[in-house]
Amino acid sequence: MARPATVTIDLEAIAHNYRLAKSLAPEQQALAVVKANAYGHGAVPVARKLESEADAFAVACIEEAAELRVAGIRKPILLLEGFFSADELNYISEHNLWTAVHNQQQIDAITSASIKKPLHIWLKLDTGMHRLGFSAAEYPAAWQQLKALPQVASITLMSHFSSADDPHSPVTAAQLQCLDDISRQCPSPVSIANSAGTLIHSSAHRQWQRPGIMLYGSSPFAEGQAIDQQLRPAMTLSTEIIAVHDLQPGDAVGYSGTFVCDKATRVGTIAMGYADGYPRQAKTGTPVIVNGQRTRIIGRVSMDMITVDLTGINAGIGDPVELWGKQLLANEVAPCCDTISYTLFTGITRRVHHRYTGQRSSGGLLTAV
Ligand SMILES: *Cc1c(COP(=O)(O)O)cnc(C)c1O
Repeated sequence: MARPATVTIDLEAIAHNYRLAKSLAPEQQALAVVKANAYGHGAVPVARKLESEADAFAVACIEEAAELRVAGIRKPILLLEGFFSADELNYISEHNLWTAVHNQQQIDAITSASIKKPLHIWLKLDTGMHRLGFSAAEYPAAWQQLKALPQVASITLMSHFSSADDPHSPVTAAQLQCLDDISRQCPSPVSIANSAGTLIHSSAHRQWQRPGIMLYGSSPFAEGQAIDQQLRPAMTLSTEIIAVHDLQPGDAVGYSGTFVCDKATRVGTIAMGYADGYPRQAKTGTPVIVNGQRTRIIGRVSMDMITVDLTGINAGIGDPVELWGKQLLANEVAPCCDTISYTLFTGITRRVHHRYTGQRSSGGLLTAV
């Protein structure tokens, strides 16, 4: 048997979560955000699963879009970071990609481009994130300039929330106010809601929602929200116990001996480490599920192994371990590693076996690869 470290992706859960996003703003459209290899879930299998029902997809850059086109995905794909040089414009125009435009250099490049089909532009307004986009003062002129170009087929007014994951933040309302002011001056379809906006800020719903993390069944909120219950976790990271040792008080476990047993302790070693994408920052006490029972990791995470506390747990060599998934939410593990579920998901490495459930196959059967 092969090393048991496995990531299992439930594509049916992702389809369910996309439908949830759609149901929250039923009159509107939703881009399925599949950037960064679908947040580590596999951009091609995820896009294939959603292709029949997603209104469009979104990725960060042209390389990610090309991967989907090569795989036969035909729905429009938005480039969230736009293009980086003018030589991308032909591919964008010919492959039905939509592109964000966030600076004057990009407008100049479009102005002097000779392309076969005019472009669908998502012109970015900076409403307070201060990362990409034109300020409210600059925006109307940029919009007018693009509007007048034969190279431009349509403009969507796009902005991004900085703090929608905090339901109490006053920033969200201020960003919406800025968006609506510009929207009155520049009549275009509008898009601002990420997952957090889609899930709880109905005032942010516009023509296009942009759900990302929620598609993968993970809540964007630090404080849980009632709606979180309707999300289905899509990724399960699992492995098995490969060794068991009974240690005595005073025995130290793992690199630098950071964990010292204060009593007789049964320690299990599992085939999972930071080279698989499990964060080395995980502290002693980070939860883990062994054989369906909740326990904790102890000592430092190594490159290929982690030690877990089996004291009082019914488990032995070969028994299953879930690092995160349906029994243990990534959102519970993430704070123990000073991070968020997004980095846990995107950090999974190629050494981990990838399994898919809920794929569509020609015979209509479930397949695993
Ligand atoms: C990644 C991204 C999203 C999706 O954000 P989530 O918090 O994962 O829902 C939406 N819009 C833009 C511009 C993004 O970069």
